[in-house]
Amino acid sequence: MSGRAQLMWDEAVTGYDFGPEHPMDPVRLALTWSLVAALGLDREMEVVAARPAGESTLRLVHREDYIDAVKAASADPAVADGSYGLGTIDDPAFAGMHEVSALIAGQSVGAAEAVWRGDALHAVNFAGGLHHAMPGAASGFCVYNDAALAVARLLELGAERVAYVDVDVHHGDGVQAAFWEDPRVLTVSLHEHPATLFPQTGWPEETGADRAEGSAVNVALPAGTGDAGWLRAFHAVVPEVLAEFRPQVLVTQHGADTHFEDPLAHLAVSLDAQRAVQVVCHDLAHEYAGGRWVALGGGGYAVVEVVPRSWTHLVGIAAGRPVEPETVIPEGWRQEVFARTRQLGPMRMTDGRWPVAYASWEAGYDPADRLDQAVRAARRAVFPLRGLLP
Ligand SMILES: [Zn+2]
Repeated sequence: MSGRAQLMWDEAVTGYDFGPEHPMDPVRLALTWSLVAALGLDREMEVVAARPAGESTLRLVHREDYIDAVKAASADPAVADGSYGLGTIDDPAFAGMHEVSALIAGQSVGAAEAVWRGDALHAVNFAGGLHHAMPGAASGFCVYNDAALAVARLLELGAERVAYVDVDVHHGDGVQAAFWEDPRVLTVSLHEHPATLFPQTGWPEETGADRAEGSAVNVALPAGTGDAGWLRAFHAVVPEVLAEFRPQVLVTQHGADTHFEDPLAHLAVSLDAQRAVQVVCHDLAHEYAGGRWVALGGGGYAVVEVVPRSWTHLVGIAAGRPVEPETVIPEGWRQEVFARTRQLGPMRMTDGRWPVAYASWEAGYDPADRLDQAVRAARRAVFPLRGLLP
């Protein structure tokens, strides 16, 4: 095992483009890649373009009739009429949709394969994390569920315990659904409460099917939760369930849409707290999964101010060259930002909140506090099912 980190990148992933009116502007991927390169991180790890996921791989998660519908919509977007979630406002059909969605999925599957085989200890696909796609439908800007496919490929290769931790502001519903009945996969999602946000699932009581009870963990956070609450909730739930589950591989999804600048959701998390959680995920992979870590992107619609910096931090952490928060961003990257978007790019790799403080759960909680109520609801629903004290 080389232990080197691997970065999955094929510029063609920027063809995942629902059109100029859509919030998921692929410039976020292009700008992330160029910020990674501007900081020299691409020279710290192996950059690999994996093949697109083939039909048999896609079928590990997706139904054949759905794949056929994506192919048809990809060949002729006019045929998409809303069935299978294709041709909707969230998921408009576009030419080449099947090919580029399979390419993104292929990067996550390739990352999983590299980590399982020991070609890399950590692998990152920031173009991935399309966690809303369902076995038989597109949903929430997601066509093929690369995260679920990466997990499914690990199981196919022989993994017996895979943990998936999703810190996107939205519930990781598609991944949870794909493994709802499978006790080999622990899905943990930390997200804004379903009462106020798409996809309106991710209630603490969602804990897995009968024969996989306790394999789904949901922490539903009140709208407005900021850095201290977000970190407190993460630390109050995630390390304990991972310690008990003892995954062979940790797959994490790092949607950057928890940020206070994000236009589509209502948490108030800073870049610095996002970085702190990335650091912890890396640590948890080493502590409980032999270091085997597949890290994915996800949502994130502040495409200039937040996404490139957040995922560049993720890449740096995986590469073993974490970027210091105070780092000044190279002027060349800011010029590229202006040329592409007519917006001014951020100056530094921090929101000025580093280091982020939070109060640990072990020190006690306040029954009247809404954040603490959310944490208690998650622990009470699932911890006893895993033999843990709520
Ligand atoms: Zn999201």
